[in-house]
Amino acid sequence: MSLWEKYLNKNSLPNLDKNIMVDTLIIGGGITGLTTLYYLKDYQSVCLVDAGLVGNGVTKNTTGKLTYLQNTIYKDLEKNVGYDSSIEYLKSQTLAITLIKDIITKEKIECNLEKVDSYVFTNKENELNKLKQEYEFLKNYVNVAEKKLPINVSSLYSISVNDTYVFNPIKYLNHLKSMLKDKIYEYTKIKKIIHHRNKYICYSDKYTIIADKVIVACHYPFFFIPFCLPLKSHIEKSYIITRKVKKNPKFSAITVSNPGMSIRYLEDNNEIYEICLASSHKTSSNQDDLKNFSNVKKTFSLKDNEIIDSWSNVDIITDDKLPYIGEAKKNFYIATGFNTWGMTNGIIAAYMLSRFILNEDVPFRDLFSINRTNFYQIKSFFSNTINSLKAFVGSKKRQKDWYSDNLKITTINGKQVGIYTDINGKEHIVYTTCPHMGCSLIFNEIEHTWDCPCHSSRFSLDGKCLKGPSTKDITYKK
Ligand SMILES: Cc1cc2nc3c(=O)[nH]c(=O)nc-3n(C[C@H](O)[C@H](O)[C@H](O)COP(=O)(O)OP(=O)(O)OC[C@H]3O[C@@H](n4cnc5c(N)ncnc54)[C@H](O)[C@@H]3O)c2cc1C
Repeated sequence: MSLWEKYLNKNSLPNLDKNIMVDTLIIGGGITGLTTLYYLKDYQSVCLVDAGLVGNGVTKNTTGKLTYLQNTIYKDLEKNVGYDSSIEYLKSQTLAITLIKDIITKEKIECNLEKVDSYVFTNKENELNKLKQEYEFLKNYVNVAEKKLPINVSSLYSISVNDTYVFNPIKYLNHLKSMLKDKIYEYTKIKKIIHHRNKYICYSDKYTIIADKVIVACHYPFFFIPFCLPLKSHIEKSYIITRKVKKNPKFSAITVSNPGMSIRYLEDNNEIYEICLASSHKTSSNQDDLKNFSNVKKTFSLKDNEIIDSWSNVDIITDDKLPYIGEAKKNFYIATGFNTWGMTNGIIAAYMLSRFILNEDVPFRDLFSINRTNFYQIKSFFSNTINSLKAFVGSKKRQKDWYSDNLKITTINGKQVGIYTDINGKEHIVYTTCPHMGCSLIFNEIEHTWDCPCHSSRFSLDGKCLKGPSTKDITYKK
């Protein structure tokens, strides 16, 4: 369970109980979808559907830093897409911070928003130059300083900015949920979309929504065409542990590159939580959850009896490190590929998508275009395909000795199943092939979920699909 999950508003809103028609349908109620709904609330016949409770997707597993100091993104972007685009990206991130602050202030949302310094640091000689170049780039545009970290962590060099924030993303979403409840259907999963006579017919289990315009904000789109995301991205996973501490040092920090490490604090109800993240990696090359959790403990010298929550999270990484936000085909919009910066990119996506819908000028339209092709993307298309294959083959060959005695992988009637025996001796049997594209699922022994290393679908102990792109369960049927 993540730290934020405790804050989740579990009083569910009604699910879709009849066929309806709207101008605009938003699929997905994370930070992206709900903020888009907020921007469109006064203008349109608009509704949002979520497969479960809103907020219960990737957003509830984030670390919730609102910062434009993102590893060494600006030097990376300069290399990938050029200097001007790098500056544009910086503008998009600072605008996103302003936009979310405006919403929080206007709607008086109590979500532990706190202004804190952000740091990027390195303890590796070979990253020193890159971080110094990032500093040189940024000092032309923002107030950045070469500054030591305020805690005792091994670091050779660090830089810092002071106009950034941390917040509680679930309190933010809860507020929007109660404000916009008349326009939201929970536990309504869209499984198929058909384009017919300028309308989109969107099918849930029982009912349909006919919409003129559709916004897909469901983290990983559940369809392959249009857009072919599996060929344009890979999945990165990180592990997070929280403990209580006595003082709030009021900063957040992140390392230059993988294996990543990040830290921030949450002060709430007279308690201070330290949120420690480490072991970031591509899921194609590393699938051992137990080992990765224990790396986090080692990195932050965490003792077992201090641990309050531990969880993992995945995000979609694009080849050129820019998100995909825009029109995939006429009146059909997608926002995804946030490269672990979806608090700011989700907000900027919401702003852009609402302006698309309202036919207003859309900033950063070309920069984040769904259909962009640049040299870097073409070059890394091949590495991406290899990555997908590696994840697929790796998942098939996964090492059985990762698992403890209460998990067995076997075959029943020619189909591979996983059998988990819980502490009461009850067996939980599921099919272990992901219904999305056929990868083998990995059992996550800390969180007791079945996770797909290829495209990040996730299933419960009894096979219920908790996260897409899969729209189907893996429940075993006798
Ligand atoms: C370890 C980690 C730490 C991070 N920390 C930060 C950070 O500090 N700062 C930052 O800026 N970013 C951070 N991120 C990134 C950020 O958390 C994500 O990019 C962001 O939460 C994605 O939000 P979303 O709204 O796109 O997706 P989600 O929150 O996943 O929302 C999508 C919603 O769509 C619903 N859905 C899915 N399929 C369907 C369907 N078929 N029908 C209906 N509904 C559907 C889901 O139920 C879900 O509620 C981090 C990411 C990781 C992995």
